[in-house]
Amino acid sequence: MKKKIALITGICGQDGSFLAKFLLRKGYQVHGTYRRNSSENTWRLNYLNILNKVKLIDIDLLEYQRVFNLIKDLKPIEIYNLAAQSFVASSFTNPFYTTNVNSLAVLNLLESIRSTNKKIKFYQASTSEMFGDTKERLQDEKTIFNPQSPYAISKAYSHYLVKNYRNSYNMNCHAGILFNHESELRGLEFVTKKITSNLSKYFYNNKHKTLVGNLYSKRDWGYAEDYVDAMWRILKYGNHFDYVIGTGKTYTIKKFIELCLKYLNIKYEWIGKGFKERCLNIENKTTIFEVSKNFYRPSEVNYLRASPIRAKKDLGWKPQKDIYQIIEKMIKFDLEKNKP
Ligand code: NDP
Ligand code: GDP
Repeated sequence: MKKKIALITGICGQDGSFLAKFLLRKGYQVHGTYRRNSSENTWRLNYLNILNKVKLIDIDLLEYQRVFNLIKDLKPIEIYNLAAQSFVASSFTNPFYTTNVNSLAVLNLLESIRSTNKKIKFYQASTSEMFGDTKERLQDEKTIFNPQSPYAISKAYSHYLVKNYRNSYNMNCHAGILFNHESELRGLEFVTKKITSNLSKYFYNNKHKTLVGNLYSKRDWGYAEDYVDAMWRILKYGNHFDYVIGTGKTYTIKKFIELCLKYLNIKYEWIGKGFKERCLNIENKTTIFEVSKNFYRPSEVNYLRASPIRAKKDLGWKPQKDIYQIIEKMIKFDLEKNKP
């Protein structure tokens, strides 16, 4: 029997590689777009042992004709659009680039689907960052967006585009509004991975100090492998809706640091306030974390916490790993990687 073909844009990223593994297990033939000259990132596919099981396609998603031809020739039944400039802080320094890939590439994909085969199922990687400066204690599919960065705004554009194509042309396109999800394969620029990676270096040498920004914003962190399952479920079982995917729990960055320190059995104390705040090792008085203005953003999202009730009801999805298990996975991986 002919295998179902799935196309993943951004296959070399954290989610792309987990999703590829997930779909291969489900029996799909998996193709993925990547950028040959920037993707030393095939390390994730390699780590998951699937580099030789997926087919990589080097394509610029901003070239409409090539995107159109790819979809026409490949004939995927599902497309997962994960490619993005995904780091919020970089979107302030590179707003044009961020908008191009996060917004216009999505338009190229949707237009190509519309002109080739409207039955293709399309998943768009929307984000809880779109809720931005929200006043709601829990955010769900009805919560109003108040985006606070070029990243969140570019994603909101695509989110509405997906809704519009679904409603206007009766297309099978859906967006998952995913809250932060982490793993051992997370990019080093994101705060959780920065913390676990640097702390594992500190664990070995007691020297490696980490500069951080705002310790008091709160995030709803889940485990990335659970979230790619949700993407697939959204396309399989999703009704005429978009879905919020998160854990329903929220923690400050400071709490995340404290849980990591506890896991590593490092005794610590916090001293100072504001930009002078530091985390010291009680036993040897070395600085482990130090707040730096340089890691503050021009505009912050202070609080995110999901209400994933619709996903549970319609998709039968719920997160499998809690923050303690995520930290354990990440630190174990980083301790191994940074072993002297
Ligand atoms: P990553 O940054 O790990 O992966 C993003 C992928 O997009 C990378 O493979 C990258 O390619 C690719 N990419 C970047 N710029 C371009 C470009 N100009 N053209 C083509 N490809 C490009 O992100 P995640 O895997 O964590 O996230 C997947 C998606 O989900 C993203 O769209 C992200 O915005 C969204 N999302 C993520 C959340 C999270 O917490 N992880 C939360 C909510 C949404 P390369 O490898 O070459 O750099
Ligand atoms: P985001 O939620 O997609 O922006 O994911 P990040 O992991 O990049 O950031 C999560 C939160 O951590 C934001 O509120 C940041 O301001 C905060 N934060 C504090 N210090 C840092 C840091 O050193 N790096 C990053 N990336 N974020 C930090």
